[in-house]
Amino acid sequence: MSTLLVCDATLVTTFDDSDRRVLNAGIFARDGVIEAIGSHELLPAKADEVIDAHGMVILPGLICTHHHFYQTLTRNLPAGQDAELFPWLVAHYPIWAKLTPEGVRSSTAIALAELMLSGCTTAADHGYLWPNGSRVDDQIAVARAMGVRFHASRGSMSVGRSRGGLPPDDVVEDEAAILRDCERVIAEHHDPARHAMTRVVLAPCSPFSVSPELMRASAELARKHGCSLHTHLCETKDEEQYCLEKFGQRPVAFAESLGWSGPDVWYAHAVHLAPDEIERLGASRTGVAHCPTSNMRLGAGIAPLLAQVRAGMHVGLGVDGSASNDGCHMLDEARQAMLLQRVAHGAGAMSAHEALRLGTRGGAEVLGRDDIGWLAPGMAADFIGVRIDTLQTAGGAVHDPLASLVFCRIPQVDLNVIAGRVRVRNGALVDVDLPELIARHNRLARELVA
Ligand SMILES: [Zn+2]
Repeated sequence: MSTLLVCDATLVTTFDDSDRRVLNAGIFARDGVIEAIGSHELLPAKADEVIDAHGMVILPGLICTHHHFYQTLTRNLPAGQDAELFPWLVAHYPIWAKLTPEGVRSSTAIALAELMLSGCTTAADHGYLWPNGSRVDDQIAVARAMGVRFHASRGSMSVGRSRGGLPPDDVVEDEAAILRDCERVIAEHHDPARHAMTRVVLAPCSPFSVSPELMRASAELARKHGCSLHTHLCETKDEEQYCLEKFGQRPVAFAESLGWSGPDVWYAHAVHLAPDEIERLGASRTGVAHCPTSNMRLGAGIAPLLAQVRAGMHVGLGVDGSASNDGCHMLDEARQAMLLQRVAHGAGAMSAHEALRLGTRGGAEVLGRDDIGWLAPGMAADFIGVRIDTLQTAGGAVHDPLASLVFCRIPQVDLNVIAGRVRVRNGALVDVDLPELIARHNRLARELVA
């Protein structure tokens, strides 16, 4: 049994159904689960660990619904700096083909460190490239050691250039081997229980790198085991053209025909959707990971986010891979989501609160979870604390503390608690030797492009 008491926060915002906000309050958690939220007289006076949250806003931890951790090794690659998606991919594939197990472990640690410092408590990664003996197990081991709630994708690519796909043949896998390994990873790692720290996702990469047969078989396998499904869809016009030419269908119709819609499915991006497609995906409660920075960086377009939310799609936020962002900052991503919708639809399009809701509850809905994303007794003790007495919030947080987390630029959080364990304290990662991690990562990144 272990207990945690966070006390004296300036504001606790729960994002519960009544949008409960409590001033000068705290949170008490036992064994990773919230027991009480409220003012001091309502909370136990003692705990195994006590955190003074004076000067902080406490809110649910942010949930990253789309990432490619391994790309932290190829951020800012000159050949990809100014390219759109397809040439950007073609520039990166030969380098990614040299990825090693050590590279997978290092990039997972770097991405998770950056995510935790920016307010993330649950991360979904889309790993789809497993060369040179690298495995998703390496990612899972690192996430467990760092104490992050993790949805690991056993993703895949199976159609190389010789069969009409975009990736080179040496980075794609045999389809039977992919499905066998998916079964193995689910059996070894997938935890369907409430408050699970590890879940497995099946995630063929995109329509232009896997076959329809693999998409269909992955959906059947995932549903047999109660796992979620994830893929890239409708990111660019190039992809739409590819689907029309190769399959005679637009991407959404193609995905739907293979069983790829519903509340257990989420797409990355979904930028180029027609109005009738949004209505259908809303009716089926299909999810989307909105990645505004990546969409801007690659010039992919502005996703019809407001229409997706209105139609009933589950919508969360993702940072996308670090080679198209090139950071993993979840509070920044909420800010970008808000600002980009304003570019398209005017200043009233999205509020700071709505952007934070997408990053928290929205992400939980996308991942199919009802135990994270908002704060209440019985929910996972996953929350963050952000100081509002800083340089960046000076003269701003006094007017509206919660909105200042989006309108003002927050370099990093001060507190990050995942499953009741303090992962960031006083703005520093707990149990992580960051200088050593960065030095190793830079060495590996240099070796990869050498
Ligand atoms: Zn992606």
